[in-house]
Amino acid sequence: MSPASQGETLLKLVDVDKLLLQLDKQLNALPQRPKLDDLADTFDQLADKSEQVAKLRLRQEMSIKALRDERQLLSEKVIESQRQIEANSTKYKEVSLLSTEIENLNKRIEKITYDIGELNAGIGKINAVEKQLSDRQAYIHARQTELTESLENDISQLEAQSNKLEQQRQKLTALLPAELVKRYDRQRGLKQGIGAAALEGHICQACHIELTEGQLARAKRDADEAGVGTCPSCLRLLVI
Ligand SMILES: [Zn+2]
Repeated sequence: MSPASQGETLLKLVDVDKLLLQLDKQLNALPQRPKLDDLADTFDQLADKSEQVAKLRLRQEMSIKALRDERQLLSEKVIESQRQIEANSTKYKEVSLLSTEIENLNKRIEKITYDIGELNAGIGKINAVEKQLSDRQAYIHARQTELTESLENDISQLEAQSNKLEQQRQKLTALLPAELVKRYDRQRGLKQGIGAAALEGHICQACHIELTEGQLARAKRDADEAGVGTCPSCLRLLVI
């Protein structure tokens, strides 16, 4: 390759690298990512709530079971007391005491039945909340799947573009002297990915500083045979 076209090739390489930088930025700023983060947070919150509600349900169910057991026991006592009344039907005082006991037992049974009803109503509300939570979780899950698909789609498209540019990059660097590519890549690493620029008039197209006549003369003098020098301001390779 003639030295004169080395500068042109280098500037083509700069253009390819700028496109690669843009793709990289796009890749890092894909809008699905923050949305997916938000959804994951919401999903976690809903999962915490579901857990709390499940604990509440368990407590209610245990209370109901305890009350049912107690009611069963009291019902057996009532039957036992009735049996005793029948056996002692002539003993007025005992019958009276047993009757009072049965009355108290029945009151307690009635109260328990009422409490079980209240607890069951509570469970009905818990069911409704659980339904809401699981509907919401299902919606979020569907949205996550949708966004993940769209994210992966965008990523593979950007990566395909990036691969093409990498191939172009390899072709261009193969045309340039290895030493020049090394200098360029070093500057690229130091200067946010832009390692070289054209000089237009007196202005470096990377840092937009206007070179003085003296700086320009020096840059020209120090440039290699391909006309690639160094910007005195930003130190990038300067195609003069
Ligand atoms: Zn510059």
